[in-house]
Amino acid sequence: MCGVFGVHGHPEAAHITYLGLYALQHRGQESAGIVSSNGREQLVYRGMGLVADIFSEPILTKLPGRHAIGHVRYSTAGGSTLRNAQPFCATTDGGPVAIAHNGNLVNAVAIRRELEGRGAIFSSTSDSEVIVHLLARSREGSLEDRLIDALSRVKGAFSLLLLTDDALIAARDPWGFRPLVLGRLDGGFVVASETCALDLIGATYERDLEPGEVIVIRRGRLRTLRPFARAPRQTFCIFEHIYFARPDSNLQQQNVYAFRKELGRVLAREHPVEADMVVPVLDSGTAAALGYAEESGIPYETALIRNHYVRRTFIEPSQSIRHFGVKVKHNAVRGILEGKRVVLVEDSIVRGTTLLKLVTMVRQAGARSVHVRVSSPPTIGPCHYGIDTPSRDELIASTLSVEEIRREIGADTLGYLSLEGLRTTSALLKQGFCDACFSDEYPVPAGDDESPPQLSLFHDVEPDGSEGGSLRRGGRS
Ligand code: SF4
Repeated sequence: MCGVFGVHGHPEAAHITYLGLYALQHRGQESAGIVSSNGREQLVYRGMGLVADIFSEPILTKLPGRHAIGHVRYSTAGGSTLRNAQPFCATTDGGPVAIAHNGNLVNAVAIRRELEGRGAIFSSTSDSEVIVHLLARSREGSLEDRLIDALSRVKGAFSLLLLTDDALIAARDPWGFRPLVLGRLDGGFVVASETCALDLIGATYERDLEPGEVIVIRRGRLRTLRPFARAPRQTFCIFEHIYFARPDSNLQQQNVYAFRKELGRVLAREHPVEADMVVPVLDSGTAAALGYAEESGIPYETALIRNHYVRRTFIEPSQSIRHFGVKVKHNAVRGILEGKRVVLVEDSIVRGTTLLKLVTMVRQAGARSVHVRVSSPPTIGPCHYGIDTPSRDELIASTLSVEEIRREIGADTLGYLSLEGLRTTSALLKQGFCDACFSDEYPVPAGDDESPPQLSLFHDVEPDGSEGGSLRRGGRS
């Protein structure tokens, strides 16, 4: 998963982009980058790690210009290395371009093989780089026409920003899998994955980009294009609402926190239980637990304390780190839990290993019984559109029944939100959504790229062996 942010027409474009990426840090913590343009040349700085660790005041000062785009990355296709860090930059005969992409392309491997067969040399293992190559090879005239030509060839999910020497272009795939919003700041324009980024910089929310929409912002003027064939339906990723997006963001004009709370209410009606307290698995289960508590009348207690200095376990790439993370991330409050019947609310169960440890921890802290409630249906399939769910055979709900999962995680009872409950609640969104990882109804077939994370066709080693940041120039050739 990734986050993108762009600014057009602001004297401190790189600084604003830094703040935007800071707000979007939850969407990717492996690498980050900013490209700025002063109208003559583009400057890029990318590094591995968190935004605040990569960028400093001296670095931002070396990224001049009134236009910039930025990216935070968590790999869902291609490894976690500096050469996969975005934005990607290229020099075309139309001038320098930089691209920042959120989403996953389901036909990237096939296109890449085709392009390599025609002599293309890729510098990363990311699916996003095929867009750069398609754009560079397009026979269309302007850079926006070339981008549209390139995007017409890819399938899957893209919320994408392209920076030229004088324009910011934003595009969303016809299905509308990933969010992308437009805002205004000090007479300029900003585009971001989520509204929380607009809030941080004090920008005004204008609107969501529509599925299949392309906007071109040049010299302070915005032009809207709808160049792609309409998708049969809109398929906004419902998992953004359930887990991924920040609760203070609005997605499709629906507040994420309020939506999660409503899921908790529905969950309480579907799976009531006699208990003394409702305890969230912080932070993702918080809003759903509050909804469950309000609907059921059972008191809400934060009896699992989270260490905020540990990164999200769900998106840790290494099995060993994930297990380590579960132990250091939460601690149970014995003084609250002892002798109590506890409802533990979580947003989703992926492998089940985290919940097994949490249920065990709550029991060891003296709880009399532990009832697990999950504010989404069983996750039975992988995501091909940009969320890092593991392969089907690693998903506990793809092979075990609810009763078997209950035994596996050691809970007294287990209740998932029903698919019908999710779909009824999602009607609040007033737009179509994707729930394929819960329903197995995939709107876009995975095709050749059934396992996108295995796109490692090349060595992922920097030429000089380094993984640090890099400042490079790209000028008109
Ligand atoms: S498969 Fe699941 S995670 Fe992927 S886009 Fe659809 S709802 Fe979102």
